[in-house]
Amino acid sequence: MAASIRLKSMLALVTGGGSGIGRAVCHRLSREGASVIVVDVNLQSANDTLQSLSRDLPGQQHAAFTADVSQSDSVRTLMEQIQSCFSAPPRVAINSAGITRDDFLLRLSEESFDSVLSINLKGPFLITQAVARAIVATGQNGGSIVNIGSIVGKVGNLGQCNYAASKAGIEGLTRTTAKELAKFGIRCNTVLPGFISTPMTDKVPQKVLDKFAGMVPLGRLGQPEDVADVCAFLASDDSRYITGASIEVTGGLHM
Ligand code: NAD
Repeated sequence: MAASIRLKSMLALVTGGGSGIGRAVCHRLSREGASVIVVDVNLQSANDTLQSLSRDLPGQQHAAFTADVSQSDSVRTLMEQIQSCFSAPPRVAINSAGITRDDFLLRLSEESFDSVLSINLKGPFLITQAVARAIVATGQNGGSIVNIGSIVGKVGNLGQCNYAASKAGIEGLTRTTAKELAKFGIRCNTVLPGFISTPMTDKVPQKVLDKFAGMVPLGRLGQPEDVADVCAFLASDDSRYITGASIEVTGGLHM
């Protein structure tokens, strides 16, 4: 149960909402009273998240849509669907959709580089631009955009030069949009998770997971809820004087 209802009457869009961190964010925001738009390239998983959302408050209305965040046409269609369903733009957007295509630099294909950059970096650009344009068009200021980066964007990681570049880029994108959108009351921040147990990390052998856990000062791998709680804070008015920031959620790894 959430400690408070900080997002009552708020419309929130979550990309990558069908799995892992995005799904946990959808759960947390709905428990805080938000109406949640679950967006994922996989409609089945978006619908599964939709079914599990909290509907405790009167007026809470959730929806699930399929969209590929790396494609401007798909994002445009998504925004049209949201407008016709809710007659208002989302005031909160959490960009959690992301992929990995790991390989060492000497072997990494151009296709793997491009696809990771397209989804992890261009995706948040397209969603931020579309949501900000829609908010500005209402003539009423206010909003919060949260991008899920990664600690890997700061420190690098073997086999992830495409992923690390996309996650370093997202911090530059966020700091710049924070400066440009401040006059519209739209805050933009990045969350930098460390190693979080999700389907994205399920491929990693248990031996390696145990080794990572041993390196974390707080002594365990992160859970999606550890990240979702910080996203809810950044979405809410409790973080009203925070913009352009990167917040590490790593259990102390790499401090
Ligand atoms: P996940 O694989 O569980 O979820 C990612 C979701 O994004 C999936 O539902 C997938 O279908 C969706 N998606 C992929 N491509 C998409 C596209 N083009 N358009 C729309 N949706 C798309 O992964 P996760 O671990 O929950 O990761 C979420 C975010 O957190 C990612 O940006 C990831 O880079 C970041 N992150 C994860 C970790 C970790 O350890 N798990 C650490 C740091 C950062």
